[in-house]
Amino acid sequence: MNVIEPARTSRSRCRHCRKEIEEGDLRFGSDHEGMYADGAEAYGWYHLRCAAQRLPEALRDALKKVKKPGEIPDHDKLVATCDLSLKKSASRYPYGERAPSGHARCIRCDQPIGKGELRVAVEREIVTGTFATVGAGYLHPACAVAHLEDPALSTQLRAQSPLLSKTDLDELVAACEAAAADHPVEPRKVEAPAPRAARVDDRTAELVFADELIERGDPRGEAIVIASQLRELSPEDPRQRDLSRRAQELLPKATAKWHDDLEVPRGSLTFDRGVPTGAKVALAKNKLPRSSSRAPGCTSSS
Ligand SMILES: [Zn+2]
Ligand SMILES: [Zn+2]
Repeated sequence: MNVIEPARTSRSRCRHCRKEIEEGDLRFGSDHEGMYADGAEAYGWYHLRCAAQRLPEALRDALKKVKKPGEIPDHDKLVATCDLSLKKSASRYPYGERAPSGHARCIRCDQPIGKGELRVAVEREIVTGTFATVGAGYLHPACAVAHLEDPALSTQLRAQSPLLSKTDLDELVAACEAAAADHPVEPRKVEAPAPRAARVDDRTAELVFADELIERGDPRGEAIVIASQLRELSPEDPRQRDLSRRAQELLPKATAKWHDDLEVPRGSLTFDRGVPTGAKVALAKNKLPRSSSRAPGCTSSS
């Protein structure tokens, strides 16, 4: 059993930072570190903050089992750090996971990936000058095989998908291997460079436009980039909150600018990813011209 307890002496040393854990300080004891010859558990000790980095899953479980969380300073912050560490360890690409929502589209076939479906996350660059960021792109298992053309995919997925259970991982790898059997790929040739442009989808043009706006100091540029990033992130991604907040800050200025530039009344435009995609036509009922109540091409016989 893993434990969280005050250090009884200051003789224990943290296995992560190698520094002493002071007497009375809370420490995390991991029982995965072996046993004494008599069968008693030999704990590996960690500062709580160090365990949050090194053993996030084990510490988080232990923190959640604590009866009086209030007695652990920074309890919630530690849980959040554990979550973040887990996310980070999951973000070595490519990795497999179950789609937490049905929002993401496959970057190869452009079809939605359903909530709960197994998917493969790959690294995707979003470069817009001032904003250069790497986000995840998602693929159906069969699309991942065709997209990556990497015979090592199954091995990588097995090593880099900590969020998947053994059963899910087997299912994902089986799906990839079935797809690879249908479309065998040559072992990767050394001289063949991965086409960088192929990783960037049709959003590039939009982001180039955003970049021009950013260079002009126009708030709409950043609004577009952030809207695009928000679409890329899974709903649970910890970056969602900061980005959403920034988007909300930019929104009034950016939308006002669009309306002014396009010389339309405030509130009449509809937006998608920070770019206007339509205009709401607001006509008062009593102002509807009579002819518009007829179907096009309908002529009066009178
Ligand atoms: Zn430490
Ligand atoms: Zn696909």
